[in-house]
Amino acid sequence: MIITKKKAAKDILDALKGSKSVFLFGCDTCAEQCSTGGKKELDEMKALLEENGIKVTGSSLPEVTCYRQYIVKEFKGRGEIASADALLVLACGAGVRTVADVAPEATPVIPALDSLYLATVERFGRFLEGCAMCGECVLADTGGICPHTECPKGLLNGPCGGVADGMCEVDTAQPCAWVRIYNRLKEQGRLHLMKKVRPPKSHANNVKPRKTFLRSYEREIVKKPEKK
Ligand code: SF4
Ligand code: SF4
Repeated sequence: MIITKKKAAKDILDALKGSKSVFLFGCDTCAEQCSTGGKKELDEMKALLEENGIKVTGSSLPEVTCYRQYIVKEFKGRGEIASADALLVLACGAGVRTVADVAPEATPVIPALDSLYLATVERFGRFLEGCAMCGECVLADTGGICPHTECPKGLLNGPCGGVADGMCEVDTAQPCAWVRIYNRLKEQGRLHLMKKVRPPKSHANNVKPRKTFLRSYEREIVKKPEKK
């Protein structure tokens, strides 16, 4: 799940300066779970904008806002989207980008949230960063605990000298990631993996923007810049 946080109201109002009417998009998956872009937050945003003299022409809560086909469906036949001066998206950056790709080029698409990280959902409302999406996964060696992500120093080859009673010296409230890795590998009878030397991340798989195409498409989906 992508974890998001709300931007300050002032920043959103600044970004909407000059827009008299706005249509809102939420996201009924990640942002809804984060309490940043579900039905309640859409209603709160509508109230905030209207208090500040901005008309809300309507709102939409797609199941998955980063999925182009859902957004194309939302746009079909909905004059209240086309008539808005701007679109405000309460979803992660991928959701904002998807709405911006489908919207008319002349319509500003504004993010209402900041995107933070990819999380494991331990239970409702408890999100733990579990993967930094490096493209060079080492979890096979580390018992499913990512040292690149869960060790604040990102150490790939065992603990630093600061472990105190099994706890991390940087985030003293959490156990050292490498102590957890050691304990899990010990349980699995795979402690030999602690001696394996892992090279530094090359970041070659992390060159942005990353793309994956599972099949070829006959037409280009992403809009090309218009010729002036
Ligand atoms: S090594 Fe860590 S950051 Fe990289 S893919 Fe695996 S879990 Fe994600
Ligand atoms: S104590 Fe452990 S988790 Fe904390 S920085 Fe050192 S190696 Fe990483």
